[in-house]
Amino acid sequence: MNRILLLGINARYSHSNPALLYLKSSIADLDLESSAVEFTIAESPEKIADEVLRHKPDLLAISVYIWNASRVKTVLKMIKSSLPEIKIVLGGPEVSFNSGEWIAGFNEIDFIITGPGESAFRKLVLADSTMNNKIIPGTNPHFSLIKFPYTAEDMKSMKGRYIYYESSRGCPFNCSYCLSSVKGQNVEFREIDQVKEELDFFSSYNLPLVKFVDRTFNLKKDHYIPIWEYIVKKYSGSGTCFHFEIFPELLDHEDLQFLSRVPRGLFQFEMGIQSVNAETLKEINRSGSWTMIKKNITTLAKIGNIHLHTDLIAGLPCEGFTGFAKSFNKVYSLGAEHLQAGFLKVLPGTEMRSKTEEYRMVYNTLPPYEIIENRWITSSEIKKLKLISELVDLLHNGGKFPETEKFMVSLYDLPFSFYNRMADFFKRENNAGHRRWEYQCEILLSMVQNNFPDSTALLMDYLRWDWCSVMKHHHFPEILKSESTVEAKRKGYRFLSNLAENKTVNYSGLSFPVENLRRSIFFVPETEEFMKYKMKGSMAMFLPDKQVLFFNPE
Ligand code: SF4
Repeated sequence: MNRILLLGINARYSHSNPALLYLKSSIADLDLESSAVEFTIAESPEKIADEVLRHKPDLLAISVYIWNASRVKTVLKMIKSSLPEIKIVLGGPEVSFNSGEWIAGFNEIDFIITGPGESAFRKLVLADSTMNNKIIPGTNPHFSLIKFPYTAEDMKSMKGRYIYYESSRGCPFNCSYCLSSVKGQNVEFREIDQVKEELDFFSSYNLPLVKFVDRTFNLKKDHYIPIWEYIVKKYSGSGTCFHFEIFPELLDHEDLQFLSRVPRGLFQFEMGIQSVNAETLKEINRSGSWTMIKKNITTLAKIGNIHLHTDLIAGLPCEGFTGFAKSFNKVYSLGAEHLQAGFLKVLPGTEMRSKTEEYRMVYNTLPPYEIIENRWITSSEIKKLKLISELVDLLHNGGKFPETEKFMVSLYDLPFSFYNRMADFFKRENNAGHRRWEYQCEILLSMVQNNFPDSTALLMDYLRWDWCSVMKHHHFPEILKSESTVEAKRKGYRFLSNLAENKTVNYSGLSFPVENLRRSIFFVPETEEFMKYKMKGSMAMFLPDKQVLFFNPE
């Protein structure tokens, strides 16, 4: 056996597949030919199979996840029928906890490695793919002894993609829906000096994002603080952002003090809250002090230097539609830039799955095993939440309506009430999923015209302000044009161009070339209320770099 191919099928092009690199590095010292190929799930099974066949491997290893499982099932049949002598080994979370079913369902599979794969894969390769048992338990040495997987050669294909990095493996928690809680996976940390050296490796590649995939990064203070300190020292001003999944309630005063000094844009945090309902949290084995979560996230949001991402899960036990709305409102109020409302995935092998009858759960039997309904929530409520989640993504997470969203929420008192109502409008228009800015504008406009007609002019001011401050265009779209927008442009342009000396405008502390006036957008509010809320002059001009200049042309 001398030709080994590792196959990754990723969810998106920007995602890379570190599992392949770990496996490749586990056999790098052996005298054989090994390579890795990566695709996305958007690519056809034929294309993936053709590429594998072109390599004519003796052993093909595929890492299987919830997002690529069905594609893998198709591809492995195509490959084995064209190359019957090939040995195929699967690994990854999707096959680790129900390996028997996979083996029984697919003759094409020769082996499945369950759990961490590096040592087991090496053993299989050394045994020339002739092991007696089809299911090979993955047992690794301590994580600090596993080789750093990236090489300079690998980095050539990483341009514009996320880099995933682990400084620890395993999770001490026991969330009932999560595979990381199965089989008591101990947490193993890499040595601090080792992590520093590995982070040094990335520094010459101008990476946009390095994602730490440690399950909970802030578990052990003498591990996470030295790493954070090192990143601040080494990477400040580098343009690279570091992503961490953290437990917000574990942050203490000292951590917050440190984090307040982290340069803007260097860190981003993802924080799974999942629910704020105490009964739900108890049922899914999650501790969670809402008081601490709230205190720490609002503190971070106020400082504003770290991009914050919060997660909720819909379809959990003991939480119906109204309960989810409460969780949503509370988490929204924390002020994170990103709120993701995801849906429970009832994964094979989890404690959650074993409670299917007790919770009367109906879920998709194919990956990603998403919840359809349970004792507490109906399928139509789940469908409605999906639409709400999509709207939150478009409006809140998309960041294109920052002021308008605040205004709309204020009209409906609570954020969930606004999004719930907006989902009704989308349903009525039968246009769910429409991603055009102008279309979202139309929906907001019809909501206000129908329910709060006196606030229509004020909404238009908010929409125009957001267009000016967020979008790249220096013309208003049709829906936002009015006589006042035309007049503002004429008046503002004339006033500021008359101030130009030597082709430069100097005004109110700002200095810019006169030709920038053509690429700027002028704004004048049509309501007194907006004038009081935002304006420091009767007009505003947004320069191409989005700096804003307030002025009084009279
Ligand atoms: S959800 Fe997160 S904290 Fe809970 S068991 Fe899984 S990895 Fe650990």
